[in-house]
Amino acid sequence: MTKVLKISKVLVANRGEIALRVIRACRDLGLATVAVYSEADRRSLHVRYADEAYPIGPAPSKESYLRIDRLIAVAKKAGADAIHPGYGFLAENADFAQACLDAGLVFVGPSPEVIRTMGDKVQAKQVARQANVPRVPGTDEEVSSHEEAAQIATEFGYPVLIKASAGGGGKGMRVVRSAGEMELAFGAASREAMGAFGNGGVYVEKLLENVKHIEIQILADTFGNVIHLGERECSLQRRHQKMLEESPSIALDDDLRQQMGAVAVAAARQVGYVSAGTIEFLLTTDRKFYFIEMNTRLQVEHPVTELVTGVDVVVEQLRIAGGLPLSYSQEEIKPRGWAIECRITAEDPFNNFLPSIGRLERIVVPTGPGIRLDSAVHSGYEISLYYDPMIAKIIAWGANRNQAINRMQRALGEYKIFGSPTTIPLHQQLLAAEDFRKGDFHTTSLETNPQFKPDPTYHHDQRLIAAMAAVLAEHRRSIQSPPKVTSAGNGSAPAQSSEWKQAGRREMLRRI
Ligand code: ADP
Repeated sequence: MTKVLKISKVLVANRGEIALRVIRACRDLGLATVAVYSEADRRSLHVRYADEAYPIGPAPSKESYLRIDRLIAVAKKAGADAIHPGYGFLAENADFAQACLDAGLVFVGPSPEVIRTMGDKVQAKQVARQANVPRVPGTDEEVSSHEEAAQIATEFGYPVLIKASAGGGGKGMRVVRSAGEMELAFGAASREAMGAFGNGGVYVEKLLENVKHIEIQILADTFGNVIHLGERECSLQRRHQKMLEESPSIALDDDLRQQMGAVAVAAARQVGYVSAGTIEFLLTTDRKFYFIEMNTRLQVEHPVTELVTGVDVVVEQLRIAGGLPLSYSQEEIKPRGWAIECRITAEDPFNNFLPSIGRLERIVVPTGPGIRLDSAVHSGYEISLYYDPMIAKIIAWGANRNQAINRMQRALGEYKIFGSPTTIPLHQQLLAAEDFRKGDFHTTSLETNPQFKPDPTYHHDQRLIAAMAAVLAEHRRSIQSPPKVTSAGNGSAPAQSSEWKQAGRREMLRRI
C-alpha cells in the first residue's frame, strides 16, 4: 500500500528565492500552495508562482512576514493544512511553531520544544554534551558579569569570544584579546543581543583561530530514522556571515566525514529531532572538530547538498511533515562530484558592501551544464531596503572541484544584472584566487588574506574586455574612413560588411 501525505495545501510564510524554492517542491509533490506578501512584494514572483496569494501588511517585516496572527488567519481562510517557514523570519521561532499547532496546522519543521532548546545556544551545548559531542572549550552556562567572563577567559586563555545565547546572524558576538578589553566587549555583546533578540544572555568560548566552518545536513522523520547527507564547507564568511559554500569540503577525508556525520546524528537523536536540520562545527588545522550550534530549519546553502546527493531536501521536509518515512537509508546516500554556491547580493563589494536599492533594469541569467539558479528577481524587480540584500544563489555542480569552479566562473560571467552593483565580480575574484583553488582558507580569510580583498581592478573575463575594445576600435575606424565599395571577389580590398554584420555591431555598441 502506498502511503499518502497527510497534508495537501501549504502556506509558505516567506518571500524571495526561498518562497519560490518551497513552492516548487510543493508542486513536485502535487501539493497546493498559498503565498503571502507584503505591500512591497505585490508583484513578486512567489506571488505569481503560488496557486493563491494573500496580502499580509505593509513592507516592514514586523508588520507583515513576522505577524504570526495574520499568517495563521490567512492559512485558515485559504484552507491550508500546513505552513512552511522557509529560513529567516519565523523559521526558528518556537512561538510560531506552537501557534501553528494550536491552530490545527502542521508546522514544516521540528517541534516548538526542540526549536526552543536548540535556539538557545547554551542549552544546545548542553544537549551536545549529553550526546558526547565535542564542544568549543568554554562555558556551557551563561555568564552574568564581565568579571566572571574574565575569570573564565583566564582559565581557557585569551583570545576568547563572547557569544549571545539567543545569537544568530553573527549578532551579539565580540572577540576579546586581553583582560583589559573584557568589560567593554561584554557590555557591547550583551546590549547588542538584547536589542536584536530581546535576550541579553551571553557565554564565553575560546576563539579558535585558523578554523574551517563545516556543517552536517541532517534529516530525521517521525519514525525514529535519522540520517546525514554529508558536509558543507562554509568558511568564506564576511562578518561571520557565509558568502560561498561548497560540498564536500576539501578538508575532510572519508574517515573524518563518517565521524562528524555520526556525531551529528547522535546530537539530533539526543534532542528528538524531526525534519531537516544542520549541525555546525568548527574544524581546526589538526583535524579536531567542535560543535558550535544547530540550525533547526532549512538553510540558504542546502542546494549544494542536493546537487551532490541527489536528495531534494525540501521535498523530504514536506514528506516528513506529511507523516511519511525518509525516502533514503544512510547507505543509500552516496555523494557524487562537487557543488559550489555563490550568494549574490545587491551590495557593492568595492564600496564597503554598501547595500543598494532600486530597479533591476535588465537581467541575463546563466544556464548550461551543471548550473542551477535559485532567485526571485526579474527584469523590472525593485530591490527593497526592507529585506535581506541576497538576490540570487548560483549553484554549480561538476564531476570534481575543478570542474565545479570552472562552471561557476562561466555562470558568473554570463550573469548580467543591470541596475545595481552586485557581489558577482568579487565571487569571480575569489574563485580565481590561488588559495581558494588550493582550499587554503579559514573563517577569517576574507578579511585577512590579500588575495580575497575586493579588488576593483580585477576582472575575470579579460577576453570580453578585449572583444569590446576590438569592437570600439573597429567602430572608430569605420567612422573615420568608411569602407570603400569594391567589386566583390577581386581579393585586393576588403568587401563592405554585410548589412546584418553592421546591425550586429550597432547592437553591440548600443549595449556597451
Ligand atoms: P551565528 O548563529 O550568529 O551565525 P555561530 O555560532 O553560527 O553564530 O557562528 C558563526 C561564525 O562565527 C562561525 O562560522 C565562525 O566563523 C565564527 N565563530 C563562532 N564561534 C567561534 C569560535 N569559538 N572561535 C572562532 N570562530 C567562531
